[in-house]
Amino acid sequence: MKKIISSLVFEYMIIFVGVLLITNIVASTVVLMIFGFENLTILDTFNGIQKPTMIALRISLMSMVVGTFFIYIATKFVLKPINKLSEAAKKVTDGDFSVIIPSEGIIKNEITTLMDNFNLMVKELSKIEYLHKDFVSNVSHEFKTPITAILGYAELLASPTLKEDKRLEYAEIITRQSTRLSKLSTDLLRLSELESDQITIKSEIFRLDEQILDVILLLQSEWEQKNIDMDITLEKINFIGDKALIYQVWVNIIGNAIRYTNINGNIGVKLHHVDGRIIAVIKDNGIGMTVEQQNSIFERFYRVEESRTTEGTGLGLPIAKRIIVLHGGNIYAKSELNNGTEFVIEFEQKNDAF
Ligand code: ADP
Repeated sequence: MKKIISSLVFEYMIIFVGVLLITNIVASTVVLMIFGFENLTILDTFNGIQKPTMIALRISLMSMVVGTFFIYIATKFVLKPINKLSEAAKKVTDGDFSVIIPSEGIIKNEITTLMDNFNLMVKELSKIEYLHKDFVSNVSHEFKTPITAILGYAELLASPTLKEDKRLEYAEIITRQSTRLSKLSTDLLRLSELESDQITIKSEIFRLDEQILDVILLLQSEWEQKNIDMDITLEKINFIGDKALIYQVWVNIIGNAIRYTNINGNIGVKLHHVDGRIIAVIKDNGIGMTVEQQNSIFERFYRVEESRTTEGTGLGLPIAKRIIVLHGGNIYAKSELNNGTEFVIEFEQKNDAF
């Protein structure tokens, strides 16, 4: 900014000198044309050289004053918005993103364009700043809760009079909260990796139906414990993508379906292809969600209040969505409170997958 101002000042100095010269030449020429050279000069008898008459001197001085005045006005006119820009930039540097430089009413030129772009930049920066602050406060909140619990129960454990059953109970809480902390940091790391531009998505060919079945078997103890009935219909489908990442999608979505379905519930898992698209549907008759809740489930750390009693990080769905998007796919949910939820995942079918 300082550079712009100093270069502008330099340009205006040059214009200033130029205008002075021109006004002087014009004024002198006019006087010369009216009075003639002989009438304008008298012989300086003392020094023996010719000097301008008082009229020429006055005109010269007047043109200087008028020229200076106009240049001063012009410089003020141009430097004013630049000074405004400079002050606004200083405020942004100090962390104030509320500044807006009004550019309406000023004749459109390079400086007003610069002002408009500056306003746009500050607006975008304020959004990032807001997201960043929001994210940091969410992370610290999510980490603080288990850490506080671990500290509290560790202190209780240190009591020499503590009964055996309480000691076991507190130790179990500490283990659970530590697992949660560990999962939180792993999920956070995974999500930031997925959101960074450095991630490379492998192109492996694998059977999607077999992978889904593997995940259902992996989670068998969980759905069996709740006596959940699994209805599985999987079409044989080859897929090209990052095998490990897609595996994570099924773990998160089918894991959620089991977690948010009541005892003796039903879960349907269907995989098929329609019109060049691969479609996976994971449907449960669990607790469901309201429309407002559904609108937020793909946000980082979002958890429906009732789900807070269950273990989870609020990062499972953002991770799944990011992986699906990185594979050119799409995920959406249809849900009704107390009536269950259906997650639909779609991918474009790549011809070379067959
Ligand atoms: P979490 O680790 O809490 O499950 P997710 O990002 O996977 O985090 O899910 C976000 C929230 O979406 C959950 O806390 C839950 O409230 C809601 N949710 C996700 N899947 C389901 C489902 N199948 N049924 C009902 N609610 C769900």
